[in-house]
Amino acid sequence: MSYEIQDHFLDVAVLGAGGSGLRASLGCAEKGLKTACISKVYPTRSHTVAAQGGVGAALGNMGKDDWKWHMYDTVKGSDWLGDQDSIEYLCSNAPEAVVELEHFGMPFSRNKEGKIYQRPFGGHSTENGKGEPAHRACAAADRTGHAMLHTLYQQCLKYDVNFYSEYFALDLLKDDQGEICGFFAINIQDGSMHRFLAKITILATGGYGKIFQSSTSAHICTGDGAGMSLRAGLPLSDMEFIQFHPTGIYGVGVLISEAARGEGGYLKNSEGKRFMLDYAPHAKDLAARDVISRFISIEIKEGRGCGPNKDYINLHLDHLDGDLLAKRLPGISESAKTFCGVDINKEPIPVVPTVHFCMGGIPTNFRSEVLMPTSGNSEEVRQGLMAIGEGACASVHGANRLGTNALSELLVFGKGAAIRASEVLENEKFNKHPSQSQTDEIINRFDTILHNKGDISVGQLREKMQKTVQSRFGVYRDEKTLAMGIEELAQMSSDLNHIDVKDKSSVFNTDIVEALELHNLMQISRSVGASAINRTESRGAHARDDFPNRDDDNWMNHSIVWMKDDKFEVTKRPVRMTTISNQAKVIAPEVRVY
Ligand SMILES: Cc1cc2nc3c(=O)[nH]c(=O)nc-3n(C[C@H](O)[C@H](O)[C@H](O)COP(=O)(O)OP(=O)(O)OC[C@H]3O[C@@H](n4cnc5c(N)ncnc54)[C@H](O)[C@@H]3O)c2cc1C
Repeated sequence: MSYEIQDHFLDVAVLGAGGSGLRASLGCAEKGLKTACISKVYPTRSHTVAAQGGVGAALGNMGKDDWKWHMYDTVKGSDWLGDQDSIEYLCSNAPEAVVELEHFGMPFSRNKEGKIYQRPFGGHSTENGKGEPAHRACAAADRTGHAMLHTLYQQCLKYDVNFYSEYFALDLLKDDQGEICGFFAINIQDGSMHRFLAKITILATGGYGKIFQSSTSAHICTGDGAGMSLRAGLPLSDMEFIQFHPTGIYGVGVLISEAARGEGGYLKNSEGKRFMLDYAPHAKDLAARDVISRFISIEIKEGRGCGPNKDYINLHLDHLDGDLLAKRLPGISESAKTFCGVDINKEPIPVVPTVHFCMGGIPTNFRSEVLMPTSGNSEEVRQGLMAIGEGACASVHGANRLGTNALSELLVFGKGAAIRASEVLENEKFNKHPSQSQTDEIINRFDTILHNKGDISVGQLREKMQKTVQSRFGVYRDEKTLAMGIEELAQMSSDLNHIDVKDKSSVFNTDIVEALELHNLMQISRSVGASAINRTESRGAHARDDFPNRDDDNWMNHSIVWMKDDKFEVTKRPVRMTTISNQAKVIAPEVRVY
């Protein structure tokens, strides 16, 4: 079919209006760059709105703190897979980024002195792990993401960022030389087709938790940016590292923030025992997430789970003061009541480890420029393309993210991307025109999916895929189970040719949008499987029963996965063990205990 296409010419096109996309759009617009922010949902419905517990920054409002302790904790939390220059960039810039947000009007909770309230969070400590837990999570009650997203959106309106809401991006656009020059999108409201042609494209498309059946992610977290990158011949990094949050509500997967344990909550097994006291005597219920999730799984596996089927653990808040719960954890109180009928003042909440965060994504350096790590030069960048937020892999979280570091990442790297974009645009001439044949290919792909006559619905195939990913790529993994998952997904992938998109109309056709998302989810699931089977060690969130130890000799490396003709190939890129300034020191690998 032939379609009319509208072209939009920009300095910077930001794809995604979550915390990272909005912070980058704001930064670019502030610098006078012609900026558009494109999102498949209205900006304030992006998943950032659901963030609860806090944004990490060593402000020291509630006790001594130092960004270098934050850096130590983050490197240790990452199980030494994080790039140390990126981690330095995050931790040294987080305090300024949070104060800036305060000045933008963010309604933070306050301590007695009127400063930003900060609570303890898992894996955050003082004195390089030797001191007391750090009060580092800057919070607006337990609705920090909501407050943050709205604050950033208001600032974007102030600087006249052009928003294109409810536009769905299909693929990256290239010029005849193969350089990235924007992306192709449809307007979900009326089906019209658009090319956003930009000197610099910033991907801020969020995570891909929806490859799993049970996750705390929103329905829209389908990793579209990662899918677009794979199809454009770009690699993804560290896809095997998927974080299970220790406390998702049993049976529904809704998140109970770590703020609950930060405020004094604790976990008990069916014998009424606080098992974390044995497993992590120092940090106890505030050890890092990967560690606690593994121990909960062990408690359940060894028959000490709670309930009639012994398949969950109890999270107790009932010993805490009712006023504190109402003031500091109002959202959690509501979620517990709504989703499992629990009054947290009186009863424990049934919880299980639930998929929560994707450490992997589009590889970048600390300036947010997308890497093209070919074997000759692992730091080569892809001109005109940047990535930020959960969809990117900078890599500040390495093998496991510490709570609150995702929101800081959005602010610091969102702002950093804008700074870098304006530097690049000042020094380089861009004169790129999209290749017509590539635009035709994108439209053909769209038409084929829309008009396909198949016998399986998008929902059916998605559920089948999610069940496989859930059962084969869980907290504990081994070669046999991973290989089964990989094989099953390869077969399901060919079923994509048999999906039936019932709705053929152009107005609010969510059927075609979900079909396009499913293509992304499937390619991402397969890249997770390929990376997981390739990494023959246990590190952070990747726990292999058949390789139970961390292997620094062979695996101080990022996994880099490429999609070539429906095959997934995995290569390596060394972890960057360098710092940016001489204020920070490289943190050498240690045994990771809490
Ligand atoms: C329930 C929950 C609670 C959390 N709590 C915390 C917390 O307390 N502290 C913390 O640090 N972290 C927390 N996290 C993690 C953190 O919130 C996320 O990592 C972060 O908000 C992701 O932001 P983002 O900007 O990368 O993407 P998102 O906020 O997910 O936004 C993605 C954007 O991309 C757009 N998009 C995607 N694909 C397309 C497409 N094809 N076309 C057009 N637009 C597209 C979407 O419309 C959206 O605007 C939490 C996460 C969850 C799920």
